[in-house]
Amino acid sequence: LAAREFHPHDTIVQVGDLVIGGGSFIVIAGPCAVESEEQIMTTAFAVREAGAHMLRGGAFKPRSSPYTFRGLGEEGLRLLAQARAETGLPIVTEVMTPTDVELVARYADVLQIGARNMQNFQLLEEVGRSGKPALLKRGMSATIEEWLLSAEYIIAQGNPNVILCERGIRTFETATRNTMDLNAVALAKRRSHLPVIADPSHGTGKWYLAPPLALASLAAGADGVMLEVHPDPDRATSDGGQSLTCENFAALMPQMTALANVL
Ligand code: PEP
Ligand code: MN
Repeated sequence: LAAREFHPHDTIVQVGDLVIGGGSFIVIAGPCAVESEEQIMTTAFAVREAGAHMLRGGAFKPRSSPYTFRGLGEEGLRLLAQARAETGLPIVTEVMTPTDVELVARYADVLQIGARNMQNFQLLEEVGRSGKPALLKRGMSATIEEWLLSAEYIIAQGNPNVILCERGIRTFETATRNTMDLNAVALAKRRSHLPVIADPSHGTGKWYLAPPLALASLAAGADGVMLEVHPDPDRATSDGGQSLTCENFAALMPQMTALANVL
């Protein structure tokens, strides 16, 4: 179902008026986690002003340590819905368990499946049944084949609206948080008809590496990028070191647009 050999034309995922895949270029931006009304509203207005097409932000956060901030839960979803109402930007947010799918789907336009849950097969099926578009992150140690098979689980439930997202993999290299696998971007585009986007924030773990890898991802064939943006990264509750300021994000947007226009 996810393979191009049985479905030669690009799948287009429609989110409201927004078209993902099939040659368009989309930018999803926002904080790692929704932290407060002020933080999400400031970010939402700033990224819309800069030209982003969709707002991201986690309300349910998968954290390596149980003692760190794990998200505002439903209150975070309410704040995202408020940001959508005030800016018009559709929202993507992570859902971590099958039992939360119904709740998250009531607020979100796109359901994100995180890297750590890429092979949570019950979650994949529940998201498939929800009917909402899914943004499926590649597991940090998953092969491209396994990633595409996970997409298959969602599509098999009657939901063809899957966006693949490369977010870096674990390698021997420790100088960066992950290694952006641009091979995977180019190969997933060839092997699958689904839209493929890239997340160079998690892929590199460093804010100053996100812009060059965002551009490289587009050059490799990505249909868009997802970037973490925070009004005050030094005070972020998660992933501050890899988050762009609103100003840095605004400076990157015209570069991405210019590149997308020549591709
Ligand atoms: C995120 O997008 O904030 C996130 C937790 O990503 P990943 O699942 O790729 O680590
Ligand atoms: Mn994050």
